[in-house]
Amino acid sequence: MRLSRSLLPTLKETPAEAQIASHRLMLRAGLVRQTAAGIYAWLPAGFRVLKNIERIVREEQDAAGAQELLMPTIQSADLWRESGRYEDYGKEMLRIRDRHDRDLLFGPTNEEMITDIVRQSLRSYREVPQILYHIQWKFRDEVRPRFGVMRGREFLMKDAYSFDLDYAGAVVSYRKMMLAYMRTFQRLGLKAIPMAADSGPIGGDLSHEFIILAPTGESQVWYDAAFEEIDYTSDAFSHASAEDLEKFFGMMTSHYAASDEKHDAAAYERLAADRRREGRGIEVGHIFYFGTKYSKAMNAAVAGPDGKQVHLEMGSYGIGVSRLVGAVIEASHDAAGIIWPDSIAPFRAAILNLKMGDAACDATCERLYDALAPNVLYDDRDERAGVKFADADLMGHPWQIVVGPRGAAAGTVELKRRATGERTEVSAESVLSRLA
Ligand code: ATP
Ligand code: MG
Repeated sequence: MRLSRSLLPTLKETPAEAQIASHRLMLRAGLVRQTAAGIYAWLPAGFRVLKNIERIVREEQDAAGAQELLMPTIQSADLWRESGRYEDYGKEMLRIRDRHDRDLLFGPTNEEMITDIVRQSLRSYREVPQILYHIQWKFRDEVRPRFGVMRGREFLMKDAYSFDLDYAGAVVSYRKMMLAYMRTFQRLGLKAIPMAADSGPIGGDLSHEFIILAPTGESQVWYDAAFEEIDYTSDAFSHASAEDLEKFFGMMTSHYAASDEKHDAAAYERLAADRRREGRGIEVGHIFYFGTKYSKAMNAAVAGPDGKQVHLEMGSYGIGVSRLVGAVIEASHDAAGIIWPDSIAPFRAAILNLKMGDAACDATCERLYDALAPNVLYDDRDERAGVKFADADLMGHPWQIVVGPRGAAAGTVELKRRATGERTEVSAESVLSRLA
């Protein structure tokens, strides 16, 4: 993209309404604009990040054997009356009435709808297990939407649902999703800690929240260094069998991890001193097993091997895709701006033309731009070098290719790595081989 012709409205001033770094930076870098309380439009650069995160989430769901579908945002109230949640959900649910006076709602989650689809579609135990997911906008009329996209009212969620014949099968599905989550967060450049969470009415140990570490996180967390050392994307985990998954789950649950409410100082102190880690965290995902809660209420059953109807065992698995954009920034920024991980940056690199109109500068920039497009942003504005440097740091491109008149005449450019600040003088050719 050429910056001169892009909708990339960066701001010099810090917007007064933004209380946390990611919200400030998302507004200043021109990623989103608020259109109503807790509702945001995603501008081109922000939308690229959102789609990159979505892609990684999708790849890991697919790799775990989950099937993608797409359910609508608008749901019928009748489904929720069947499960008993229509009244229970309260004011967080946005209720809508159509022209025929039928009650509809903007979905805050999809347990009822997916249960309805499955009960109409599956007949036999031979057709399970299945894990189904979609990546769709949700609406929750939060009392206090805040921190930008971190707690919005309309937000993008990946929600998956598993259907198994029995508890043993449900446990395997649960572990598969846990592994998929750890791989997803690692690929997003995040350190994630799975933490046992309250599992609600069903009890048991099958409910985990995924907390990512960021200095500005809302809760304090204590954990074992092991979580930082495991490579979840390694082959050891890639085609996990039920046995491998059991080992993996054992590893995840044996290491110490707790946040404020559940922290056990004595247990933490028993860790070797060099294994103890403390930090702040942000919740970005939540998985839980809830048995036959919905399948019984809505009669979702299949014929078992003996011909008897069996209510399906279910779990649900959520990732806050739009919250992750903010969370990644909380985990990765400095005083000058965002530092995007390579895997999700809106552009892999920016080309900064320090002297528009200079023949050598223009020619070098155009050549680099042609070779690196579409994953590059060309700052071809008629602006001072200082403005271009500041905007590139603010927007957080992993690489900056700085093209000045003296270097361009000699065939060289300066390559800057945003994360480290390291700069090297290199030939334009070697930039291409490194970044293409
Ligand atoms: P919270 O405790 O933050 O309200 P929740 O328990 O209501 O979260 P879930 O229903 O488990 O959240 O939803 C799954 C994921 O969706 C959460 O882990 C979070 O990442 C994301 N999420 C939930 N509410 C919001 C929101 N208002 N804005 C953005 N993302 C959200
Ligand atoms: Mg909530």
